[in-house]
Formats: sequence, structure tokens, C-alpha cells
Amino acid sequence: MVMKDNYKMGNILGIPLELHVSFLLLLLFFFIYSALTLNPGPFIYIVMLFATVTLHELSHSLVARRYGIKITKITLLPFGGIASMEEIPKDPKKEFAIAIAGPGFNFIVGALSLVAIAAFSDVSRIFPFFEFKMESLIDLLLVFFKVNLLLGAFNLFIPALPMDGGRVFRSLLAFKLGFPAATEIATGIAKLIAIFMALTGVLLPNLWLIFIAFFVYIGATQEGEVSRINFMLAGLKVKDLMSTKVVTVNKDITLEEFADILFEKKHMGYPVVEGNRLVGIITFSDLSRVPREEWSIKRVGDVMTKRLITIGQDEDAFEAFIRMARAGVGRLLVVEGERLVGIISRTDLLRTLEIMRLMRFQR
Ligand code: ZN
Repeated sequence: MVMKDNYKMGNILGIPLELHVSFLLLLLFFFIYSALTLNPGPFIYIVMLFATVTLHELSHSLVARRYGIKITKITLLPFGGIASMEEIPKDPKKEFAIAIAGPGFNFIVGALSLVAIAAFSDVSRIFPFFEFKMESLIDLLLVFFKVNLLLGAFNLFIPALPMDGGRVFRSLLAFKLGFPAATEIATGIAKLIAIFMALTGVLLPNLWLIFIAFFVYIGATQEGEVSRINFMLAGLKVKDLMSTKVVTVNKDITLEEFADILFEKKHMGYPVVEGNRLVGIITFSDLSRVPREEWSIKRVGDVMTKRLITIGQDEDAFEAFIRMARAGVGRLLVVEGERLVGIISRTDLLRTLEIMRLMRFQR
């Protein structure tokens, strides 16, 4: 996601859990507020929201995992969370099941709480609905019921990607139209909803609504882009797009000598070898970080990046795109076992996308 203000909290069922800064501030605020007013109610309320959001996201994750989709992390926001998946499920049935799992869990828990309320007290006590008291144990149950109902409804009934309702909507469209067309429609509608939410947020004024609108707009834009790239690169393998004429440099040459090669070949990145073994990668920016006067003493092996991000030549070109984006790098080394067979860069992918776009318009 765009917002990088997340705090790691540990793992739950093997999935890394992160807390968005807005949620952290909210927890702190309510803690201080409760401490100052000597009323634990507001803090209990926010902790309950926190637990409910976590369980909501875990429900998505467990269903996704059943389909063999790996969850890289869960980010918790006050109005819901984001379970980041290794891939977007391309089967509408799977996307539907994963999306409905979160709100579904909230509704089931909400219904159970209601049964418990009916058993121990009086159901009419849920009204007035937007009054959150915290004076007895029954109040705790009432708040739990309301939090689950609100969170489930909010996430499911707003049909805006990347919210759950948007995913359900997209998957239903995808049954008829296929994923690319369904995504175009769903992201378009999501952006309209986001603009409407933002305007409402300004008029009310309500800061949360503006925040959510922003989140939805950016999320929908990204989802649309990834889907378009995925669609255009479909069927292409890494080996179809990689360059095989790879210029490698020896680990022991000086930066001075490397600069000459850089000037002559004009590539931006070079795999570094020691004998036949691939040991790193050096780029123009690695060189530019070293002061000019040290170029004659320092060697390629001293400044190269040792962390190698590789891909196999028979893997999907889209996978290369995802791996570069996730690692924040511009190129991947294509390997066959220990042997370097080519290099694939973002430029290779973008050039292909440009050509595909041109061909699509001319057909
Ligand atoms: Zn959800």
C-alpha cells in the first residue's frame, strides 16, 4: 500500500500483523482519555474494535490459505484491515469466498452476541443503537454486538474496491464478464464512491470519511493498474522478455574500470561474477554513492549489492513484475540453477506493455 506508517506487532497463526499509525494513535488517545476520566469504557470499546478487526482479517486469511494463497501480512486500520495476499485470486468463486469471510464472521459473532443478550437480559437494550455505555457486563456484550454488526455492514455493503463489498461485487461481475472487464467496472465505481465519500466528508465535516475515501481511491487505482498489467502480460514468460546478452563484471575490478564499462555499454545494472559464480549486482547508483576520488581504490565487490533477487526463466512475466515491485528493484537476474542466463528489467516489461497497448488499440 501507499501508506507505510505501519508498526509490526508480531505474528498470529504465522501471519505478520501490523498496526496502522492511525489505529495506534486512536488506542493511545482512548487510553489517555479513559485514564483521565477514570472511565474504562471508551478504552474497552476501542480494544474490542481492535480485536474484532483482527478476527475479521484472520477470517479472510484462513479462507485464502485454504485455497493455497499465501498471506504476506495483515495491516489493521480502525475501520477494517488489509490482508495482503501473494496474488489476486483469479477465480471469481475464490475471491467471493475470501471477501465474504470477514463480514460473514462479524455477522455470525454478532448473531451469537444477540442470542447471549436475549438469554441474560433484554434485547431492546440495543437501542438507542449509537449509545455506547460501559457500566455492566451486559453493556460489554451490547458493544461487542454493535461493533461486529457495524464493521461487517460497513465492509460488505459499500461496493468499492478494495473493500470487501467491492471484492464481492467484482467477483460477481467476473462470473459473467471475466476478471479484466469486471475490474475496470468495479474500480470505476469505487472511484466514484470515493469521490462521493470525500465530498460528504468535507460537507459534514467528517475526517474519517475523508480518510477512508482517500484509502479507497488509491486502492482502487492500484488494483486497476495491477489487473491491466496482469491481463496484458498473460501468457508471457520471463524468457520471452529477458535480455540474454548480459554484460557481467568481475568482482575484483576497480570502480574506475567499472565506470569505463558503464560508459561504453550504457546499461544501468550489471551482475557481478567471481569466476563463473554469480555473487552480486552493481548499478549506476551504487557507483554514484562513492566519491569520485575513491574510484581507483575501491572495488566492485566492496560496493555491490549482495542480496540477489532472482527469477527462473520459465516463470510468468507478471510474477517478475510483482517481484520487482515488492523488492523495490528495477531488474531481476534470471537464473537456471546457479547459472545466470539473462536479465529482466522494468524497462523490458514497460516496453512490452507499451507495444501490447499499441497492438490492442490497432486491432
Ligand atoms: Zn474485510
